[in-house]
This record gives sequence, C-alpha cells and structure tokens, in this order.
Amino acid sequence: MKLLVLNEARHAIDDSFVEQRCAVTPATVMRFSRMGFTVMIEKDAGALSGYPDATYTEQGATIVEATAEVLGDADIVFYVNRPLPSHLEQFKANALVIGHIDPFFQQELVETMAGKGLSTLSVEMIPRSSRAQKMDALSSQASLAGYVMMMQAANALPSILPMMMTPSGTIKPAKVFIIGAGVAGLQAIATAKRLGANVLAYDTRPVVAEQVESLGGKFLKIDIGETGQTKDGYAKELTDEQKAKQQEAQRDAIADSDIVITTAQLFGRKPPVLISKDTLALMKPGSVVVDMAAQSGGNVEGSVPGKTATVECVTVIGDGNWSQRVARDATDMYANNLLNLIDEFCDKESKQFTLDLEDEILAQSVITHAGEITNDMLKNAYKGG
Ligand code: NAD
Repeated sequence: MKLLVLNEARHAIDDSFVEQRCAVTPATVMRFSRMGFTVMIEKDAGALSGYPDATYTEQGATIVEATAEVLGDADIVFYVNRPLPSHLEQFKANALVIGHIDPFFQQELVETMAGKGLSTLSVEMIPRSSRAQKMDALSSQASLAGYVMMMQAANALPSILPMMMTPSGTIKPAKVFIIGAGVAGLQAIATAKRLGANVLAYDTRPVVAEQVESLGGKFLKIDIGETGQTKDGYAKELTDEQKAKQQEAQRDAIADSDIVITTAQLFGRKPPVLISKDTLALMKPGSVVVDMAAQSGGNVEGSVPGKTATVECVTVIGDGNWSQRVARDATDMYANNLLNLIDEFCDKESKQFTLDLEDEILAQSVITHAGEITNDMLKNAYKGG
C-alpha cells in the first residue's frame, strides 16, 4: 500500500501560521517500510521539526513533489491538519485520509470528502479509551500544549516564578491559577510547580481534584450544583446560572494570581467564556492570562486568536497552535500515534491494512466512508442537534 505524507508548511489551511510539525519521523518510516508500505514524503515535510529529507530516505522513504499524479496514487494520506479542498479533487476514490479534520467546524469539507467517496479518519474522534491511548493525538498534543502555555506565560511575566531569598530582598513565589484540569491543564500545573510557583486549579469535574493535589496544586472548591461528565469523560455544559456562579467564585482567585491559564473546552461545541474584561481589570498590571481556547471562541473576553494582546493592562496570550512550538516532540508524539493506529489494524501476516468499521475505535473515528458521513454524533451536529 502507498502512504503519502504532505509538507503542510506548503499547504497552509490558514494564513495565521506555518505548520511546523510532520506526520512521520524517520523511526516511524522505518516501521512502515517493514510493515510493507511504500512511503512517499513531500519534499522538506520534516524540515521544520528537525528531520531533513535525507533522514527519511535513509529509512526507505521516497521524497516527492505533491503533484496530481502522486496525490492520486496514494492509498493512505497523512495530515497533521486537514486537506485543502484542492487536494480532494486529486485523491483516488476510497483513499483513506487521516488528520485533525476539526469535523464539528468543517461541515463543508467533511461533506465534500464523503461525496468524493473518501474514507476520512478524524483523530479528534478517536475514543478516550485505554486501548486507544497510544493513538490519542488530542492527548499527546494537549500535554505539550500545557507545557508550552506555562512556559509562554512565564516568559511574558515581568517577575520570576520561584521564591528567592537574597540579601537584596525576598521574592515571593508567583501565584498561578489553572482553569480546566484536563490533559493540558494538568501538564500546565506540573510545569508551574517545577518552576516553583504556587498553583491553584479549578475544573467542573470534581473527580480531577485528586489529580491536581497529587501534582502539588490546590483545588478550588466551588459549589455550583450538579456538574459531572459525559460517558466519554468530557465536561457537560453548565447552565447560565452555574456559569454565573463559577465566574463569581473564581473572581478573587483570578485577581490574586500573577498567571491564569484557561483550558476549558467542551467537546464539539464552543468553549465557555470564563473570564470577563471586568475580572481582568482586577488583576495586577503586567499579569498574564493564557487562553488555550482563543482560536475556537475563547475562554477569555478580549483574547485575540493567534495573537498576544493587552487587555486592561493584562497580557492575554491567545497564540494557539501551542504544540508546534515544540515541533520535534510534537512530531514524534503525533507520528507515534499514527503508527500505532495503522499498526493496530494491519494484519501481521498479510501486511494488509483493513478499515474494520465494526471495531469501536474505527467506528467512532472514521467519519466518512463509501460516500456517506458515518458518525452519528457529527450527523446530529450538522443537523443542528
Ligand atoms: P477538554 O480539552 O475537553 O477540556 C479541558 C478541561 O476543561 C476538562 O477537564 C473539562 O472538564 C474542563 N472544563 C470544561 N468546562 C469547564 C468550566 N466551565 N470550568 C472549568 N473547567 C472546565 O478535556 P481533555 O483534557 O481532552 O480531557 C477530557 C476527558 O478525557 C478527561 O476526563 C480526561 O481525563 C479524559 N481522557 C481520557 C483518556 C483515556 O482514558 N485514554 C485520554 C485522554 C483524556
């Protein structure tokens, strides 16, 4: 089977950033070659994550230009992001396209992919199960995002994070408040603790309090009534009354913090607004807020997608694309996720990859197949349900 990897720095899905990551590493290319795949990689696809073309050819890959002929030859196409509409014209019907498709917000693209008879595997839809952990790209990239957001905040803060006692005076440890203690939030907490800050965290899922405390953080208890999580482990959306209570109860903690990082997301929906401009105005001038959700709607009023802004004398970082700032690690982790995914469904003897839609992982993550949109959650979302 022929596997194609594109250079996404050349095929930008939007103008605000140049993709640094690649979907394969030399190590995963070696494994794919051993599994019987012919691997074609677009020129310079790994250059920005530290893998020049020669490191891939040494492992058996062929370097190609993304011509119509090459695109039309591939059985499986790997993206870090998602295909450009112009690529869809060129793929052969029933090719398998894998990437961060962003399916809830890319209805037109998904419908076109279905219409063209492509099979589409959206890595965001891979279930959060023990068996799928090794393929879970949302988690691998979110872990790195947590680290990157904390480092960016520390760099932007006009003070240090650890306590420092010197003859010239004593500096108190910085106060960091993390809102949303999922995969990214927990990494941000761990990073802040390593840097010597005092860390407080809040999440609407009370089950995470123990995890926050095991990392050395304190958990802010807010009584907003029934919250909980969906059967997939994601947070449920709060009522308007609960949202108001949360904002009120967090206000003092935010005002008292040097750094606030918001990571609150709702799977498949717009994220909740958690910090208003009025609350930002209560923070010390020069404090830093990082809005992980800036690009998908924003947890913080006034955050600008893809940019750092000053709002009420507070530095609000909404840069996004966090994991690609550590492109080599992000590439390594994503490439391993895709290798594990393909390996799981490849017959070891015949070396054939089978798209077994009866399997629970593929049943959820393959969103188009044989001319149809195959994921019920998406079909409902597209109907406005
Ligand atoms: P996410 O990115 O959807 O959300 C980030 C965090 O924000 C979550 O912890 C969520 O509860 C929280 N949040 C949502 N609304 C909030 C609000 N109003 N205020 C404060 N916090 C709010 O979540 P995620 O990091 O992708 O993780 C989702 C779940 O999946 C978690 O339970 C996680 O432990 C679980 N998970 C399981 C596996 C696995 O079993 N293989 C892998 C990864 C994640």
